[in-house]
Amino acid sequence: MSKRVVIIIIICLGFILFLPKESSQSWGFYGHKRINRMAVFTLPPEMVTFYKKHIEFVTNHAVDPDKRRYGVEGEAPRHYIDIDHYGEQAFDSVPKFWKAAIAKYTEDTLMAYGIVPWQIEKHYYKLLNAFKDENLDRILNYSADLGHYIADAHVPLHTTENYNGQLTGQRGIHGFWESRIPELKAEDYDYFVGRAKYVDSPLKSAWKVVYDSHMAVDSVLKFEALLNKSFPQDQKYAFENRGSLMAKVYSVEYTNRYDLMIKGQVERRMRESIIMVGSLWYTAWVNAGKPNLDKLGQNDISDSLKLQMQKEEELYLLQKIKNAKGHED
Ligand SMILES: [Zn+2]
Repeated sequence: MSKRVVIIIIICLGFILFLPKESSQSWGFYGHKRINRMAVFTLPPEMVTFYKKHIEFVTNHAVDPDKRRYGVEGEAPRHYIDIDHYGEQAFDSVPKFWKAAIAKYTEDTLMAYGIVPWQIEKHYYKLLNAFKDENLDRILNYSADLGHYIADAHVPLHTTENYNGQLTGQRGIHGFWESRIPELKAEDYDYFVGRAKYVDSPLKSAWKVVYDSHMAVDSVLKFEALLNKSFPQDQKYAFENRGSLMAKVYSVEYTNRYDLMIKGQVERRMRESIIMVGSLWYTAWVNAGKPNLDKLGQNDISDSLKLQMQKEEELYLLQKIKNAKGHED
């Protein structure tokens, strides 16, 4: 390892200790990792041994797409779609197929308002081809990434222009719903979601997920607004120790009350994410001709993938340091 790399790693490790816990990432890092991890247990016997052997990889790399948002141009719109930008009848107006959607709106517009359903389809095909080629690195990489995009599409606020309640005076609700609630509640969720199912059309399913998410946007916002009106304002937030920093968070009481009002919506969307992740991994494997994973699973990821992951991690940490400095300035 070069001296430069060692220095960078030491700086990064130092910084991690002083960084607040992730709170503004989609599903939180905690939720994404949990979803990919639990998806492994939905798989049939021919797949489960392979995925169990590499469960730490698909768990830890469930958050790579969010880390890439810092450094990779064009990454951000892959995580959401502001479907309400396209008007009242958006689900009828927006063509389901990528090419037809480009023809109607231009690629620039689609990129500006998010492309998550198409990203799910794209990554599904990447995974399918990786299975066909029996390429362990790509299978694991794309499985982890696909899980991330599927999970993001299940978050109601990933389907609206009012993604952080900024248009309705509810700024902060994004992280509240997808990070704070899972952080406090997800240990108690029921993760027995059944078996992965064959999916006829991954694109159609991705659109159904977006539709269901969007239908939930009203209740996400409405119940928080109602609670906010009736809850003592001086008890809405609390300060919690995050590493060496004190972070302002929604209080436990406020979170519990909201979670009751939305009747387990976060748990439901998380469970649906898990089954769909497992189902698309399974469907890609079936459509690739069911390659023998037991044989393939005996290998480990390649050194070049390990190196690439390490480089991406360094880049991410450096970018975070830069951002943190930017906030100080
Ligand atoms: Zn994301």
